Amino acid sequence: MNDKTKLELQNEVELKYALFKNSIVHISEVSSGLNLNNYRCPKCNSFLIAKKGDIRIHHFAHYNYENCQGAQETALHKLAKEILLQEKMVAIPDINNPEQRVFIEFDEIKQEVRVFNLIVDVLGYWNNNELAIEIKVTHEVDLRKIAVVREKEIDMIEIDLSSYVNANLSRDELTTVVIETAPRVWINTPIIQVIEEENKMSNNVKAMGFISAYGYSRKNNSNFEMSNIYVMQPIEKKASQNFTVTACAGYDLIKFEIDDNRDLHDKLERFDFPCDVALTFDIRLKGNKTIPIVTDVNLI
Ligand SMILES: [Zn+2]
Repeated sequence: MNDKTKLELQNEVELKYALFKNSIVHISEVSSGLNLNNYRCPKCNSFLIAKKGDIRIHHFAHYNYENCQGAQETALHKLAKEILLQEKMVAIPDINNPEQRVFIEFDEIKQEVRVFNLIVDVLGYWNNNELAIEIKVTHEVDLRKIAVVREKEIDMIEIDLSSYVNANLSRDELTTVVIETAPRVWINTPIIQVIEEENKMSNNVKAMGFISAYGYSRKNNSNFEMSNIYVMQPIEKKASQNFTVTACAGYDLIKFEIDDNRDLHDKLERFDFPCDVALTFDIRLKGNKTIPIVTDVNLI
């Protein structure tokens, strides 16, 4: 076995996508052979040859051999962004039932947009709402980003394509995956993420208190109401690519808006806080934003 064969075997993921005129093409869309002006590696930008023989799975190979790692992952990430920009729509997880999808059609959509001090993969706009979309192939949204998203109340979902790296999906097949079927979670609703990780056990949390209030805003020349519930979430010892928790203990306090519902407020007033409760969520349009709202709280 020569060195080249060894390295090829080490590199388990064969490249199914190439960069062609600034966009990503799947191997099924191209004819066999080499066209030096056409196909480039999405990662290292070197020339690719389309290998469409009878024995091995059709794939792109680097023309001048280089040990290029992660080209398939880079291609998938780029293609997913392209699909979102082209289709201008996405399905978001229902807060109550993360398996359920709610479709959003964007008026406008851009990639690599700066939001506060973050660069997000894709930002979609519709009816004055904004939704940030992050595509996970190798890197999940890191904790610094999560912290900014929650502090600035940016609506963000993460679409997880990490299990599709070897799936060899055509553009059409990947379109359904990106728009609708791939796993996706809200980044700005921490409880839902915890639930997904713990296999949807429940929305059970320790509630610390709640407040329901109203007032008059001179600035907006209108009445306003606010109702919030405060819950504890364990601080997790969780590492990512560029973030390491060296030590931690205890809980973080998280605020959720609660439904403007007199019965619910009366019920909450009778609770002996702190107490263990089950929360029920709904996604609501508030002003021009989609936010999770607590619609019911029950003692457990
Ligand atoms: Zn390459």
